[in-house]
Amino acid sequence: MSTLRFEALKETFNRKPVKIKEPARRSELFGTNVFNEASMKQYLTKEAYENVMEAIKTGKKIDRRVSDHISTGMKEWAINKGATHYTHWFQPLTGATAEKHDAFFETQADGTAIEKFGGGALVQQEPDASSFPSGGIRNTFEARGYTAWDPTSPAFIWGTTLCIPTIFVSYTGEALDYKTPLLRALQAVDQAATSVAKYFDKNVTKVTATLGWEQEYFLIDSALAATRPDLSLAGRTLLGHSPAKGQQLDDHYFGSIPSRVLAYMRDLEIECMKLGIPVKTRHNEVAPNQFELAPIFEEGNLAVDHNSLIMDIMSKIAEKHHFKVILHEKPFAGINGSGKHNNWSLATDTGTNLLSPGSTPMKNLQFLTFFINIIKAVHDNEELLRAAIASASNDHRLGANEAPPAIISAFIGSQLTNVLDELEKVTDGKLSPQEKTELKLNVVGKIPEILLDNTDRNRTSSFAFTGNKFEFRAVGSTANCANPMTVINTIMAKQLNDFKAEVDELIKGKKMKKDDAIFNVLREYIKQSKNIRFEGDGYGEAWEKEAKKRGLSNNRTTPQALKAQVSEKTIALYEQMKVMNKVEIVARHEIELEDYAMRIQIEGRILGDIARNHVIPTAVRYQNILIENVEGLKHIYNEDFKKHSNEQLEIIEEISAHIAKINSGVKAMIEARKVANKIDDAEKRAFAYCDDVRPYFDEIRYHCDKLELLVDDELWPLTKYRELLFTR
Ligand code: ADP
Ligand code: MG
Repeated sequence: MSTLRFEALKETFNRKPVKIKEPARRSELFGTNVFNEASMKQYLTKEAYENVMEAIKTGKKIDRRVSDHISTGMKEWAINKGATHYTHWFQPLTGATAEKHDAFFETQADGTAIEKFGGGALVQQEPDASSFPSGGIRNTFEARGYTAWDPTSPAFIWGTTLCIPTIFVSYTGEALDYKTPLLRALQAVDQAATSVAKYFDKNVTKVTATLGWEQEYFLIDSALAATRPDLSLAGRTLLGHSPAKGQQLDDHYFGSIPSRVLAYMRDLEIECMKLGIPVKTRHNEVAPNQFELAPIFEEGNLAVDHNSLIMDIMSKIAEKHHFKVILHEKPFAGINGSGKHNNWSLATDTGTNLLSPGSTPMKNLQFLTFFINIIKAVHDNEELLRAAIASASNDHRLGANEAPPAIISAFIGSQLTNVLDELEKVTDGKLSPQEKTELKLNVVGKIPEILLDNTDRNRTSSFAFTGNKFEFRAVGSTANCANPMTVINTIMAKQLNDFKAEVDELIKGKKMKKDDAIFNVLREYIKQSKNIRFEGDGYGEAWEKEAKKRGLSNNRTTPQALKAQVSEKTIALYEQMKVMNKVEIVARHEIELEDYAMRIQIEGRILGDIARNHVIPTAVRYQNILIENVEGLKHIYNEDFKKHSNEQLEIIEEISAHIAKINSGVKAMIEARKVANKIDDAEKRAFAYCDDVRPYFDEIRYHCDKLELLVDDELWPLTKYRELLFTR
């Protein structure tokens, strides 16, 4: 074994689980590092507290004078908790979170110093934004960006820094982050859903979109990960032969959690408790060294912030445990990839989950209304949903055999399928009293209150109803949930507005009763959106054919999928719902295309480097050993030597052949990159990387992996899959 690999493995064998201390009750820790309602009550004046609460509930602007009081209280709280610095914490379009720490410490004219944090610093800041992607927005408007406090997501302390969640916008108001459009989409769906919910319950004044994400990840020993340039730089392996044992035996899923991993999970969960992230579930996933973490669902904006925060602190806490967290969607070929299921629903301020069936026919009509509207929205906007989850890394997962395909479809289960089939038969126009009674008693009234039937679940659907929520399963594990959540909430808002208009029109124009009108509109929606419903195996080839027949999109690559982001339909939708304007939409599209091309470019460089500087030299070294051996045999056997060295000669030739293929592949890839780099247009460049550069990866990899099987294990420099995946 190469010294590098050997040393790394030796290090891992000496690892012990880190000892974790925790109180008997975790609930005691919950939210202790969050400036939540309880701490606000303690540290703020009554007026300041009421202002913040009002801003959270209604979005009302906080008065400048009051913000000074709030910042002072927040500072006192943070200093008492050991904080020395503060930062605006935001989510630029890089996908990561951003922070720039400033000390509370300030000097005064008389030479002394104090801790200061004014309302201005709380409410607004100007980070040097020029290094964040803006898709040309800042160039066009020659304006700087600023961050502005989002009071709906509470400030928290991480380490010794007070972090204040903020939006990030240009001076002309264009969103430069993920949070701004999400907040607008949440507001749009609140308004639309509230007005529809009022058909059923006059007391509803606010509807909140909820999100419960499930985060999958791999843990690899940090010493081993450090030996792989591909894992370190690209977050995934670009080569490596599959181990003899992978996940064939299905012996990892829900298996007992290894002790070092458990120590890590507990440590992480304790930090999450303090930060108010309500993590609840942990388990082994399907692949070796793959795990999952899930919290109790929360209001959409907060849940998105918590997921962004956790992706960051997962890596930080892993350092202490000598693990590297791999969030990439497909870190190992031939091994299951990672996703991030987004469980989504709508909840009223009267305590009703709008996607949960109820105990009365009226409650169930409300449920069906929201249920059918979301199916219609998904049907009408399937391509936009696909675009929302597109990324270079998620491309490896979508359409591969263990993940949802690149086709969006909705699964609802047999019980609800039957209900929709019955509703489809409802008479056009006014319903007879008998029909209405029949419907209410035998169709709507028959929906059981609890639909959480585990036997009726389809794990291959990209958008599945799971009893009281929809689960968007195609989201990538590295993704910022804001993107898919912005789309779902926007399309639902638009859909509910349209629904309300249609129902009101029937009530007014055709003088129908409210429930007649609702039944009539729902019936049409069921018919119109049938194509998106699919109950079969979403991973099978048959579905691809069927989906094509139905006219559903199957956009396999990111550049292709992203087209839907800038279609006229999308622009009209976002502008109408006031979620994004055209400038913002076009900028985002460009940023994502650039991100795509850049990631493929980086991977190409890494692969070229590994292939030429690690793999080829190692293969040559081994080939030299074989040549020496053949020469020795020649020395012993003279003319007869061939009989004794046939195998060696064969391997020598095989090695040469693979080396030649690798070399020509790398050369051609570099040429393709040069051509792509000269293209100015972001979309054309992304397509060039996708269609002309990326295909070389598989070819180069194939020959490298063959060499891994041929070359003496003693010499092979790269830690092998079996070592990465089965050492813990
Ligand atoms: P699984 O999908 O693994 O079977 P569950 O159905 O229990 O697991 O829930 C998965 C996730 O769904 C959890 O994070 C949970 O908080 C979330 N969830 C449950 N109800 C809702 C809801 N009404 N809105 C959003 N998320 C929800
Ligand atoms: Mg799930």
